[in-house]
Amino acid sequence: MEENKIILPAIAIRGLVPLPHVDFRIEVGREISILALEQAEKMYGGNVVLIIQKDPNLIDINVDNIYEVGVMAKIQLKLKMPNGNYKVKFKITDRVKIVNYESLDPYVVVAYEKIKSEVLGNEEELALIRKVIETFQRDGKTYLVAPDEVSRLLQQGLTTEETADVMAYYLKTNDKYKYLAELSVAKRLEYLLEDAAKERKIIEIENKINEDVKKSIDESQKEYYLREKMRAIQTELGDKARQDEEVDELRKKILAAKMPQKIEEKALKELERYSNTNNQMAESGIIRSYLDFLIALPWYKTTEDTSDLKEVEKSLDKNHYGLTKVKERIVEYLAVKMMTGKNPSTILCFAGPPGVGKTSLAKSISEALGRNFIKQSLGGVRDESEIRGHRRTYVGALPGRILKGMKDAGTINPVFLLDEIDKMASDYRGDPAAAMLEVLDPEQNSNFSDNYLEEPYDLSQVMFITTANSLEDIPGPLRDRMEIIELSSYTEYEKFNIAFKHLLPKELKNHGLTDKQLQISEPAMLKIIQGYTREAGVRELDRLISTICRKAVKDILIDHKEKIEVTEDNLLNYLGKIRFFNNEGRNENQIGVVTGLAYTQFGGDTLDIEVMTYPGKGGLILTGKLGDVMKESAQAGLSYVKSHAKDLGIEVDFANIDIHIHVPEGAVPKDGPSAGVTLITALVSALANKPVPANIGMTGEITLRGSVLPIGGLREKSIAAVRTGLKTIFIPEENERDLDEVPNEVKEKLQIIPVKSVSELLSKIF
Ligand code: ADP
Repeated sequence: MEENKIILPAIAIRGLVPLPHVDFRIEVGREISILALEQAEKMYGGNVVLIIQKDPNLIDINVDNIYEVGVMAKIQLKLKMPNGNYKVKFKITDRVKIVNYESLDPYVVVAYEKIKSEVLGNEEELALIRKVIETFQRDGKTYLVAPDEVSRLLQQGLTTEETADVMAYYLKTNDKYKYLAELSVAKRLEYLLEDAAKERKIIEIENKINEDVKKSIDESQKEYYLREKMRAIQTELGDKARQDEEVDELRKKILAAKMPQKIEEKALKELERYSNTNNQMAESGIIRSYLDFLIALPWYKTTEDTSDLKEVEKSLDKNHYGLTKVKERIVEYLAVKMMTGKNPSTILCFAGPPGVGKTSLAKSISEALGRNFIKQSLGGVRDESEIRGHRRTYVGALPGRILKGMKDAGTINPVFLLDEIDKMASDYRGDPAAAMLEVLDPEQNSNFSDNYLEEPYDLSQVMFITTANSLEDIPGPLRDRMEIIELSSYTEYEKFNIAFKHLLPKELKNHGLTDKQLQISEPAMLKIIQGYTREAGVRELDRLISTICRKAVKDILIDHKEKIEVTEDNLLNYLGKIRFFNNEGRNENQIGVVTGLAYTQFGGDTLDIEVMTYPGKGGLILTGKLGDVMKESAQAGLSYVKSHAKDLGIEVDFANIDIHIHVPEGAVPKDGPSAGVTLITALVSALANKPVPANIGMTGEITLRGSVLPIGGLREKSIAAVRTGLKTIFIPEENERDLDEVPNEVKEKLQIIPVKSVSELLSKIF
């Protein structure tokens, strides 16, 4: 060993790099290090060299694994720990270069040389140190392990070299040996800035990764969090979105309704939405109504049909007088239905004037079959959405009338009466008739679509029956789909029977009376029919009987009468003054007034045509409620009269008179081609100044040449003629074949004279 060589025991450091100007604390545990430590204290005044392992994982000391540069340190504090290790605090004094390894056993002894840092103190160095301090003060936390300790040290006032060492020591970077080995302080300052930049980059990347991870978590949990939050707010406010019981209850109902799978799934989804909607929100009400509707709509429930046609017949007979043909056809229709087990491809349509029993027949059918009954009126429906419903997107949206009816029916196979199908109108809001076509088509109606329901609904088991007053007003395609059964006006005789057999017993029952307490005599009943009603059906008659019952109840309860007998004489007390007189103004023969017979949607009717002439300029004036067809009839009639004036005994100068034709009374527009004969007769009567016998009526269209053409509705017209007290009517000869439609009691009261031409008619009258 050379004397001038400086040697010291050495301790190998793993994983850390001590730097001058900083206190260095480690735990010393390896045997070889502890020996060196003790030796240093004993022999070298506490001075050691700290050498630095390249690979911190190796336990044994290997010269190749030691860096060339280390530090000289002085032991400041040494504490023995219970496990035999020492905790040691060193004061680092100098950088040293290891010159030689004097010994490696039992502890390391090195020969070393102190090395000095190069401090230039030039402007460049100054600029660097400023930049370093600025950077590390601004973002100390980002780059330094103990930023507070560093700023404390800085405040004590450090040289450039000291600053560089302190910063380097506390830097987060692992790779610190370069700070030890580099002698140029300026270079070390540059390293500091580089490492800071690296660190910043790493932190940026780290932040970005954190953000990405957070984002993906956020997305998936956002909804959950929001819902939870909303729930929390609602609970906080004291109104939890839904009581769980309510939702459970609804769920049970949905499952019990046995909807088709797709619809059930939808309902449950809506329920989920409902349970998360605050009940103060409009949305909540919309969903609730929808769910209630789905639950209330029948999906599988049916009633069992009576299979006994005899029973059906009996039931129809029980509720309705007469109508033999109608009942027969109904039974035939039902027979087909029973044979095939499905609805016939056509739908029954009861056509006829009001009050003739269309609705009640349909109801009887449902009773006879044992089905539920439901009625929806189509009168005035002009908007397709009334049939198909509104989209559910706004408050107040409703299902259409069809599904509403189904809901009320409660079974999937009710008898469904569509009342007044002829009164449906179409306009810009869509064509309800088209929607009805779908409803009534057995091929299509198993998938009926309603805007509100949104899903197809099966109507194929429903028995639809429609009613109409006038067949002409039903759109063609719709009419084709229906089997028309016509119900016509009742005769007085029929009304009389209906009144005694059905209406009176029914009203007595409705008013809690017995046939002992109230009796209506036969003449009284006839007077009610003739003097108080003028209708094709029996609705008004029914109402009048009900009025009598009401008054009878009052008499019995208040005046303590035991029995009431309504007779022709005391009828006035119950119904007031007579409203209609037979033979109104027809007791005397008149000039220029003739009674025609008309066929309206309210049944048969009579109409008077009046003609008057006065000096003028050959004009023709038409007033009253006349349709176009009738105006043309008037022109044609006048032409005929003019050309046959001589034969008819007319001597007026047509150029010097005006002719006024008027059709008084009645709000119903008078149209139709069958008034030709009436017009001519009235014209001839007025122009020839010949009276027309009272109590005659007529119907028939004419050609210019004077033939009388056939008409429709003979039965209705003849019944109306009797009703208004006519004794004779003239009809076109061709209509003779329809006479078997005319009830016998009408034929008994009415002379019916067929005529072939106008001349024949006129010769018979005048
Ligand atoms: P519509 O539907 O044709 O207008 P409704 O069916 O409402 O007529 O009948 C009106 C009333 O007349 C009902 O009370 C009904 O029972 C009664 N009615 C009608 N025709 C008959 C009949 N042939 N037999 C018994 N009652 C009848």
